[in-house]
Amino acid sequence: METAIFKNEQQKHEELKRLDKKHFLHPTSSLKQQQEEGPAFIFTEGEGIYLKDIQGRKLMDSLSSLWNVNIGHGRKELGEVAMQQMGTLAFSSAFSAWSHEPVIRLAAKIAEMTPGNLNTTFFTSGGSEANDTAFKTVRHYWKLKGQPEKKKIVSRKKSYHGLAMGATSATGLQPFRDFTTSLAQDFHYVESTVESLRQLIEEQGADTIAAFISEPIQGSGGVNVAPVGYFQEVRRICDENDILFIADEVITGFGRTGKTFGMDHYDVVPDIMCIAKGVSSGYAPLGGMVISEDIHQELIDLSDGIFMHGYTYSGHPMCCAVAMKNIEIIERENLIENVRVMGDQMLQGFNWLEKEHDLVCNVRGLGLLGAIGLQSKTEEQLAPKVVNEALKRGLICRAVLYDGQDTLAFAPPFIINKQEMDEMITILHESLIAVEKDL
Ligand code: PMP
Repeated sequence: METAIFKNEQQKHEELKRLDKKHFLHPTSSLKQQQEEGPAFIFTEGEGIYLKDIQGRKLMDSLSSLWNVNIGHGRKELGEVAMQQMGTLAFSSAFSAWSHEPVIRLAAKIAEMTPGNLNTTFFTSGGSEANDTAFKTVRHYWKLKGQPEKKKIVSRKKSYHGLAMGATSATGLQPFRDFTTSLAQDFHYVESTVESLRQLIEEQGADTIAAFISEPIQGSGGVNVAPVGYFQEVRRICDENDILFIADEVITGFGRTGKTFGMDHYDVVPDIMCIAKGVSSGYAPLGGMVISEDIHQELIDLSDGIFMHGYTYSGHPMCCAVAMKNIEIIERENLIENVRVMGDQMLQGFNWLEKEHDLVCNVRGLGLLGAIGLQSKTEEQLAPKVVNEALKRGLICRAVLYDGQDTLAFAPPFIINKQEMDEMITILHESLIAVEKDL
């Protein structure tokens, strides 16, 4: 009997692998590897900071999946809210200023949490749409103000802003832009220095630049923390030149860095904030663009008709209800405080690894967003090897290899405890030893 069940499971696994290869075009994946090996994991369950796959393997999820499952896996409460909302009002349009309670409550809650007078939210299904919305909105804004030539968007090298057409165009990581042949126009990139931004403004002319966009801490580009004073100075330059400042808080928003928003560390209030991921902890697809009262008022006062931008799922009732409950959980369980405490422990652990291993260099982080740099004596990149060794020991972690980097990135769920953090550091230590032995 047991053998029969086992055989069934095995058959099911093989069947799923075959169907995956034939029918599922994976996002950001090696298609050749998928065809040769099939999906490396077929996940079946999540609980806390762990995921389980079809083969019964239990893995620690040290990146909160895609930096998003912040409150951890397996929260039944969110499932209940989703079911309740779907059973009551699964969907209704928000076009033509129609509305419903979940979206109104969530927009008001976000206004309460965001700094300064960032008080009005446009909802999307994720971060890319949020950034594309911001790019279209700032251009629309300057057009309404009689300056249609103010349309250039400036972003930083190594930035990641998503992969919709506008978002890809703003992304400062070349491999993402090289994927296709033609992108959106009027996007420019600067180094992460104040001088580089000043120089670009001088070259291009402030009257041609609509906005500057930046992540408070670059995530996919390798967890790069900006130089001290950088954002304050950028804010000043933007003000001096009538350039709008967009903060891409898709990873950093809702507590990831130990404060509610990443920009809170710098006491900088952007004109527009883009959010996604942590707003719903991945339990439902949701993102948004939060605009200041000033911009909102101008959009109303100067309006030349309809705000001609919107998605079918702008303000999806179930997604909004789930996000609201997610935020309630973050507040109720005081999770941002835990991010600070565990973030310190993570960084201490990384510092210890740097002392123990010659391979480790340049450890960094803020809250539960961190990275370990690796240095190889050869051309060979080490991060993929460490990732492999960690997987063998039950830890999922992410290699960042763009721009010749050799980095491991971490963003564990906010609920991680001391013992689990110790386990994560121990596995990394053992994995590094294994890689060193092999060199
Ligand atoms: N901005 C940042 C900073 C991100 O990290 C991401 C996703 N990793 C995005 C935008 C794009 O979000 P999405 O994948 O939800 O479109």
